[in-house]
Amino acid sequence: TTKTRFAPSPTGLIHLGNLRTALFSWLAAHKLGGKFVLRIEDTDAERSRLEYVTALMADLHWLGLDWQEGPEVEGPQAPYFQSRRDAIYQGFYAVLEAQGNAYPCYCTPEELALSRKLQLSQGRAPRYAGTCRHLDANGRAAHEAVGRQPTLRFRVPDDEEIGFDDAVRGPQRFASADIGDFIIRRADGSPAFFFCNAVDDALMGITLVLRGEDHLSNTPRQILILQALNLPVPQYGHMALIVGEDGQPLSKRNGSRTVEELRASGFFPEALNNYLTRLGHPLESEALLGLEALAAQFKVERLSRSPARFDAQQLAFWQHQALLNLPWQRVWDWMAPEVDGLVPESAREAFVAAVRPNLSIPEDAALWAAVCFGEPAIAPDAEGILQSTSKGFWQFALSGLADSGTDFKALAKSVSALSGQKGKALFLPLRVALTGQTHGPELAALLPLIGGERAAARLHTALE
Ligand code: GLU
Repeated sequence: TTKTRFAPSPTGLIHLGNLRTALFSWLAAHKLGGKFVLRIEDTDAERSRLEYVTALMADLHWLGLDWQEGPEVEGPQAPYFQSRRDAIYQGFYAVLEAQGNAYPCYCTPEELALSRKLQLSQGRAPRYAGTCRHLDANGRAAHEAVGRQPTLRFRVPDDEEIGFDDAVRGPQRFASADIGDFIIRRADGSPAFFFCNAVDDALMGITLVLRGEDHLSNTPRQILILQALNLPVPQYGHMALIVGEDGQPLSKRNGSRTVEELRASGFFPEALNNYLTRLGHPLESEALLGLEALAAQFKVERLSRSPARFDAQQLAFWQHQALLNLPWQRVWDWMAPEVDGLVPESAREAFVAAVRPNLSIPEDAALWAAVCFGEPAIAPDAEGILQSTSKGFWQFALSGLADSGTDFKALAKSVSALSGQKGKALFLPLRVALTGQTHGPELAALLPLIGGERAAARLHTALE
């Protein structure tokens, strides 16, 4: 079965780009009843923060992207924080050193920078020059004697081709000659990303690694490490990045927002999941789908190779679909902080049904709660309509209301018969008098909530 993972570095809040990686990994796993692992890549002690781990787990829970192995639930490969797996990494370093696949490197950052500069000035792509590749025991001892702390470098084979079949981008080929020996353990003893990321994927039994295409050039290095350790190599799939509406990588400037910000501004998790799945992955269904249904339709081969363009209008579209289709209690809970106290408990369901097509954020509900159960202000564009409607019309409306109660269809029919008005000339003044607004939800749904008494009072006000 498929086992995927999300392996965030907790150095910031989750934004839409990392969220899409997590979502696609979750969908790929759940499509065939597989497992989704959460692993925290917190080896960079300086930039990693526990509060970001807490925040990202809250985001994943909110979205429904639960993990079958990882923090909180644990599992056979615990711990799932890389900062607590050091003993495991040290064991593999020892194996690589004993096999001659890794060697200590004493070059200082200054020496390395100089070598880079030299290669660049000669028009060559910089790679490690191999200075410490053939140091013998004496050479090492000399460096150690002056107190140099070595890094550990992976010895890249001289002339090999490293190929793999990318699940998204198809066959890939890299020449080992283009890859310099690279650092797998830093001078302070901490593991380098390439190393622990690959080792953990293998140990945790990950079969499919979906990640951003910015990691594509890391993959041949990671395959070399796994092969040297005789560990299984997962399938990799490198996804195109999300770009902003301006075609530039998604950032704060062109519309990127964190999951936390989107949640705080009232987006439903279903809106995000449905939008992000379709961003770079075509789906037949145009309906709002739950995660399991999205998973059933998800196919790795369909992931697009070209950049996915973020589109705020599409996100708004899915928010609207969520508002129309979620169970009414969900919509009520969402708007409750804005309208509670105004809406009688017995009217909640009818209120949600009446106003949900007209909402996009919870704050929008406050106006309609005031319209139905309070004292709504008259919108500026409504004033003129009140003024220009004849007194006779309001009298007809009052007698219509007396006859038909809160049945709006019957009311409109009777006012039309009495006044001779039809269409907009009939409906707009009624809407304005009853709600104070020129636009809004169906009057047939609002009027029973407004009730006969309030409606009559508002028509009287219009008449005066
Ligand atoms: N911690 C890495 C990152 O957040 C994981 C990359 C990967 O998915 O392999 O970029």
